[in-house]
Amino acid sequence: MPTLRSVSPTRTNINFTRPALYPRQLEAIYSDQRYSVIEASTKSGKTVGCMVWLTEQAWLGKTGHEFWWIAPILEQARIVFRRLKRGLSAGSFTTNESDPSITLANGAVLRFKGADNPDSLYGEDVHAAVIDEATRVKEDAWFAVRSTLTATRGKVRIIGNVKGRRNWAYRLARRAEAGEQDMHYARITAYDAIQAGVLAQQEIDDARSQLPEHVFRELYEAEPSDDEGNPFGIAAIRDCLEPLHTTCKPACWGWDLARANDWTWGIALCDHGAVCRSERWNQSQFSHLDSSADTSSSHPEYWEVTLRKIRDLTGRTPAAVDSTGPGGPIDQALNSEHRTIEGFVFSSKSKQLLMEGLAVAIQQHHVHFPDGVLQLELEAFEYQYTATGVRYGAPEGMHDDGVCALALAWWKFSQVDRLRALELLLTTPVRVRQTGALVGGKNGVSRWDNPLALDSQS
Ligand SMILES: [Zn+2]
Repeated sequence: MPTLRSVSPTRTNINFTRPALYPRQLEAIYSDQRYSVIEASTKSGKTVGCMVWLTEQAWLGKTGHEFWWIAPILEQARIVFRRLKRGLSAGSFTTNESDPSITLANGAVLRFKGADNPDSLYGEDVHAAVIDEATRVKEDAWFAVRSTLTATRGKVRIIGNVKGRRNWAYRLARRAEAGEQDMHYARITAYDAIQAGVLAQQEIDDARSQLPEHVFRELYEAEPSDDEGNPFGIAAIRDCLEPLHTTCKPACWGWDLARANDWTWGIALCDHGAVCRSERWNQSQFSHLDSSADTSSSHPEYWEVTLRKIRDLTGRTPAAVDSTGPGGPIDQALNSEHRTIEGFVFSSKSKQLLMEGLAVAIQQHHVHFPDGVLQLELEAFEYQYTATGVRYGAPEGMHDDGVCALALAWWKFSQVDRLRALELLLTTPVRVRQTGALVGGKNGVSRWDNPLALDSQS
């Protein structure tokens, strides 16, 4: 393993030998990104790996720099404190037992804290941190820790078992997995640990036979259990997965336009009802537009670029375009050229209807889409009962642009489908209609057995 050299203020050389970590651990924990979210199986060595990482960061730090280990409660942080003391060579550090901390010979301080007292987490400038068992750490504590890392641009490792989908760590993990800037995501399962030789196959066989399936999946496969509140159904979403129909032609497009920080996303469905194009971008991808200076949703240049791209990609294909708020002028600009483009104004009522249409399509497996960010958004999407009715949307901190684009595309698809059926009905000779012969859809695809059965087309 690599040996890192760091020079202490007194010019003594310190050799830090990084203990052996297996490749999945190394890749996850030693990522270059500032934020690394690691959803890991129990006994996969995630805690040890992060102890090694944080200590190494501290050895590379300077006198007075703070490096924090945060656990849900102080007692859990103390366990790591004690393990770490045992792991360091004598004479290379001093400790404080009452306010658990380790001061290394270079003057850097490793501090162990409980998230049960978020107020204790504010104030200092922290140069690197680990949040252990993140799903059990309160969101307030995460905000506090993040604020201590702001001035230093310090790195943070957020680790833990998974626990349902209703927590900030789950949402952050989905953002990391979707490729958000500065973030790295990793899942380490029991199988990775077995392969690396740190966990015995027998142990997980026993666990599987003893634990309820969803508990086993959370603990050993790092697969969060399916909380209620997803209108599509996680199993149904997975049943609809199909690779992108890249060779099919778009039959219709749905476009969701970016608000302040999210994405403009266009999705096209082919005659099979499958996604055949998926295009998304946001301001950060147009470096010539200074996106950091202005995150308002109405950046004129951004909209100009967006308008041009939508026009080029959509052509004369029927499309539904989000025309809520800043989308309004776009929809008008597009529609003045192509009457096949229709605006859709999102309100809580219209969104509910749109999403319920998509939910039926997904549950009946009429629509197909590839895995990836879109699938993540669909799986995280939720409905909540509120005082004013049902609210459909992404959980806090997540986006639903892909879900909206898909729902708009499906809405258009149903319209187009109905029109086609009607067209077919009117152009089909009477004899054929009466005998109900099979009539193929476009491109030789037999979508409809009977063109008279309009009701089954939606
Ligand atoms: Zn297709």
